[in-house]
Amino acid sequence: TSFTDLGLAAPILSALAAEGYEKPTPIQEQAIPYLLKGEDLLGIAQTGTGKTAAFALPIIDRLSRDRKPAPRHGCRALVLSPTRELASQIAESFRSYARNLKLRVAVVFGGVSARPQAQELARGVDILVATPGRLLDHLDGRAVMLDHVEVFVLDEADQMLDMGFIHAIRRVVPRLPKVRQNLFFSATMPKEIGMLAGELLRNPVEVSV
Ligand code: AMP
Repeated sequence: TSFTDLGLAAPILSALAAEGYEKPTPIQEQAIPYLLKGEDLLGIAQTGTGKTAAFALPIIDRLSRDRKPAPRHGCRALVLSPTRELASQIAESFRSYARNLKLRVAVVFGGVSARPQAQELARGVDILVATPGRLLDHLDGRAVMLDHVEVFVLDEADQMLDMGFIHAIRRVVPRLPKVRQNLFFSATMPKEIGMLAGELLRNPVEVSV
């Protein structure tokens, strides 16, 4: 299977070629066709499997085919990630894969000033990558609304649990629109994570690599 066979839009294919990606990894091959159809996904996968591209490419495809202005004080895709390092890497990957498209990607995390982040959110972004605590700060401060989220990604769910972010996640989820696509990734499935996945996902496709 090639990236072309998976049905990704041409500007994404040329970005992948520039990135030097020759063919999809197993999780990409298994997940991308379902994600392009708008289905929910439960991915059991570790870092290093290519899972970032597995979720980023279909999101970019969807947003680029259905062009809309980035919602002010909001975003169209929301990715939650446990650490600033992971969040920054994910945002960089989105920017790289979307290099031929006009999509705004923002990353917000704690430990730095919230003000520039709030200004960027006010202008509106297509894809927002956030750590849960700082996202809640922005929600509480009305810097961001989640009413326009079309795709929600929870990455490294088990690490979120270990870091005590489950409560924050449970406060974010009710702010999302009811109709949305959900992607849930975890390296392991402890009971509490399985329950959270069960609450968030609707008839998910399961991919384990
Ligand atoms: P991840 O599991 O998302 O952290 O990705 C691990 C590494 O694999 C990253 O450095 C990606 O740039 C790289 N990568 C992801 N997909 C592919 C692919 N299809 N071909 C080559 N490298 C890839």
